[in-house]
Amino acid sequence: MEARLRLLGTGSSAGIPILGCSCKVCCSCKANFSSKNKNIRTRSSLLISSGGKNLVIDTCPDFRYQMLREGIDHLDSVIYTHIHFDHISGFDDIRAYSFWDSYSTIDVYIPDMMYELFLTRYSYFLGKNISYKGTCPRVAIRKLPTPKTCSSILSFHLDCFDIDVEYFCFKHSNTDVFAYRFGRFLYLTDFKYLDSKIVDQLKGKIDFAVISGINFKKEHFIHSTIDETQELLDKLQVNKAVITHICHDVDYYDPDNIHRLKSGVSLGYDGMSVDINM
Ligand SMILES: [Zn+2]
Ligand SMILES: [Zn+2]
Repeated sequence: MEARLRLLGTGSSAGIPILGCSCKVCCSCKANFSSKNKNIRTRSSLLISSGGKNLVIDTCPDFRYQMLREGIDHLDSVIYTHIHFDHISGFDDIRAYSFWDSYSTIDVYIPDMMYELFLTRYSYFLGKNISYKGTCPRVAIRKLPTPKTCSSILSFHLDCFDIDVEYFCFKHSNTDVFAYRFGRFLYLTDFKYLDSKIVDQLKGKIDFAVISGINFKKEHFIHSTIDETQELLDKLQVNKAVITHICHDVDYYDPDNIHRLKSGVSLGYDGMSVDINM
């Protein structure tokens, strides 16, 4: 299946520039606040388009701006990775797509452990006692069961592309996060380590990945650094990848990046588009 990926956002949880930050990268962004500046990173999210259908992985706080920037007038599906603010808080804004009659229900795939929190946070239009009198988003919530262990892989049928998608789960601090494999494409964000049995099962099955890497430093307590991400890519035998979920330590325009990144690996930027065969 041919698909176009668009990196809607490539930033870490606070976005770049960070409010109040006076580091070199944040200051350069504030001085040149243009969508062409590849150091300006909205929160991480990915759009996959194929056969006229659009799927978004995560709806970050910048979701509305990102969809306007990319000119996306309809949405078929959303898949969530985990419950953190920077990955879900644009959810209310999918409501606008329901204003227009010609668009049908949006399928929303969520890890099952997120459902209770979704019911609490979005009770105004989800659940039994809907109090909201305005237009509610037409969503069909599809709960994805949590794999029993960090070494098991499950799958579900993704209706909008009529394909089976595999997923697995890992710990990000104390939060469960899901990663998704669409054929030979992997979207993996907010990880620190993967279970070695997962690595063994995925090895050789992925041609291209959009994968998180927080910075070029040696260590981060809950995120994989870009070096650690590149080591994982080697273990998975992935030759082409784009790094996302990048923090303000990383200057896209630093010429030394060419020495830091392996051949086939590049830093992602907001609006980056990649055509793949899944
Ligand atoms: Zn995140
Ligand atoms: Zn900064």
